[in-house]
Amino acid sequence: MMDYHLHTSLCGHARGRMEDYVKNAIQAGLEEIGFSGHFPLFHITDRKLASNLSIPEEKFPLYVEQVLDLRKKFPSIKIRLGCEVDYIPGYEEEIKKRLQPYSFDYVMGSVHFLDGFLFDHPDYIEEWEKRDVDEVYRNYFSRLLQCIETGLFDIIAHPDLVKKFGFFPKFSLGYLYQEIARALRKNNMVAEINTSGLRKPVQEIYPSLDFLKILRKYQVPITLGSDAHSPEEVGKDLDKAKEWAKEAGYKEYASFSGRKFRLLRFPSP
Ligand SMILES: [Zn+2]
Ligand SMILES: [Zn+2]
Repeated sequence: MMDYHLHTSLCGHARGRMEDYVKNAIQAGLEEIGFSGHFPLFHITDRKLASNLSIPEEKFPLYVEQVLDLRKKFPSIKIRLGCEVDYIPGYEEEIKKRLQPYSFDYVMGSVHFLDGFLFDHPDYIEEWEKRDVDEVYRNYFSRLLQCIETGLFDIIAHPDLVKKFGFFPKFSLGYLYQEIARALRKNNMVAEINTSGLRKPVQEIYPSLDFLKILRKYQVPITLGSDAHSPEEVGKDLDKAKEWAKEAGYKEYASFSGRKFRLLRFPSP
């Protein structure tokens, strides 16, 4: 099995040595892993905040070097070089330029920022109480759609992250799910099944099963990820992610190399 969503302590809010992430992945019997370090938040002027949320720009080449070194050191497991990029409207060209120097296997796009509102950050839970939840959901999915339509990314990370703290809208999300699924298909993108929601107040995998079934209907391929921010979290709940995938009708997952993917069948239990 695979885990494509591993972080590193270089981003300021994860911990542990990258080598220990790899060792734990081997121990857990994973065949393929990918580091998806938070890409530098170059648009944030508050450098302290930026270095607590992402890998600082000057350290990014070191991150890449470390992944490539680990690949040589542990040939028994496939180690992919990825990153997780925060999509911020208006920075498309800048993101493209900054991704260019590196030989990524995949680039994840994600939405954590709705303008000034860091909706998935624990410091912003109180802000949620003040906001119109329906509007936050509409903003989130419209930003996610914009993120997909840039064509800059291969995988959309944790597609319904907005539910993290368990706030839900009054309206049905079916239409928005379809809109996202259609855009992913059109842009030949992959959706991530991310188990970290199980460790958060919502206690549910991203995306929800309803959403995943719609993604499946639109033939959007999937990857699996734990969103590990420590070595102990590597491979966490991937069996549940696989069950979720199978329940939605998936028989295959996407394996990336050089920003292209091929579909591999899930191993039989
Ligand atoms: Zn993180
Ligand atoms: Zn994320």
